[in-house]
Amino acid sequence: MQLTSPRLRAALLAAASLTLVAAVLPPPTPLGIGDRLFPELGNPGYDVLSYDLSFTYKDNRTPLDAVTVIDARALEPLERINLDFTHGKVASAEVNGEPARFESVGEDLVLTPARPVTAHVPLHITVRHTSVPRGRADGGWVPTEDGLAMANQADAAHRVFPCNDHPADKAFFTFRVTAPEALTVVTNGVPVAAALRAGSSKTWTYRTLHPMATELAQVSVGRSAVVHGTGPHGLPLRDVVPAGDRKRLDPWLRKTAGHIAWMEERVGRYPFENYGVLIARATTGFELETQTLSLFEHSLFSGDGYPEWYVESVMVHELAHQWFGDSVAPRTWSDLWLNEGHATWYEALYADGLGKYSLERRMREAYQRSDQWRAAGGPPAAPKAAAPGEKIGLFRPVVYDGAALILYALRQEIGTQAFDRLERRWVAEHKDGVAGTQDFVRLASQVAGRDLTAFMEPWLYGKTTPAMPGHPEWSGKSV
Ligand SMILES: [Zn+2]
Repeated sequence: MQLTSPRLRAALLAAASLTLVAAVLPPPTPLGIGDRLFPELGNPGYDVLSYDLSFTYKDNRTPLDAVTVIDARALEPLERINLDFTHGKVASAEVNGEPARFESVGEDLVLTPARPVTAHVPLHITVRHTSVPRGRADGGWVPTEDGLAMANQADAAHRVFPCNDHPADKAFFTFRVTAPEALTVVTNGVPVAAALRAGSSKTWTYRTLHPMATELAQVSVGRSAVVHGTGPHGLPLRDVVPAGDRKRLDPWLRKTAGHIAWMEERVGRYPFENYGVLIARATTGFELETQTLSLFEHSLFSGDGYPEWYVESVMVHELAHQWFGDSVAPRTWSDLWLNEGHATWYEALYADGLGKYSLERRMREAYQRSDQWRAAGGPPAAPKAAAPGEKIGLFRPVVYDGAALILYALRQEIGTQAFDRLERRWVAEHKDGVAGTQDFVRLASQVAGRDLTAFMEPWLYGKTTPAMPGHPEWSGKSV
């Protein structure tokens, strides 16, 4: 057979190579990085360096138009690139400037680049998609009375944008959000420039100065007041509150600088570019340590039933997470106890300092319940997975007070001075990084000058709670 023209030959060759690709590649499947609790979260084969996220917001009923640009590095040859993404519609995808085929499989968006990617090359991925604002109670966008906020922990960032949705892969973020001009947009990080007006809308651009886990992204859109202040050693403070509530909330906002100074005395410098609270008129049932801008429910500050010391200790909890959980992110979700145990520890220590609820009493009460908590939720460092459909089911008492109890036991065992050194070294040595349970045991051993593995194992992984050093009289029975 004689091919009649170069054009036809090229078309035939292209068709042949497509057939070849289709014949060689198995059907796309959802992949993960092997997290025990979320097996399909995250993806192997690449390391994300940065996300550039553009959203156009109209109202809480309309899917946002979005463009997600990912710069990554291939760690191995890739014929396919799996991203985590669900809920939104994908219009197009490109890899390194060329259109890529895309398919949704489970909660993965699987891209097949026009040509396979070789190892150790830069990957530039663009996905045009929508982002659905009507999250059910399972995370992602959170509708507020005047707009949206975000709550992605633990596994909901990929309901908002395509990503490598695991805290083990931190990256820098740029946010470009267009919204009607009456609304104010604030995200993690610092503004890149003043908001740009075009017609009846404005575009706001921010970027993070530190790497961040996808679960800690925050985008607030609403009729907000942005309150600026100054914290210790000139740290910029920036709170975002409903505009109509600014005056009433002001006494709470003024407490943050003192909270930061209190934390810095204990663990060292605040790790990020700025800090503030985002108080949203929303019903979430939780507060969340989104990086540099912690999300709080408005009702916490409404003065009905919550004593001041309690509200402050919750503020300190989210602030403490900026060191423990954000700057030092968990290597796997089984390391969640390191986030919540430490945040609960400083929350309890703060309340103790106010003379309202002593640390020892709180820990004694936790000790009494600890066996029940372990039976219900598993051991602190190997918690049971959440039941299907209960996305925040992982956040059980065993990883809060049950895990703070481990820190208390450790402090009893190695002494307050060694414990304080451990805390400081932990956040300094893993700043902007990722660390897990074994890293903590190793560092604790180093600081104490002896191997603490045998001491820590039953506290971390035991079905029942070991005896509390220094408190032989404590028991698991209620008194
Ligand atoms: Zn927490």
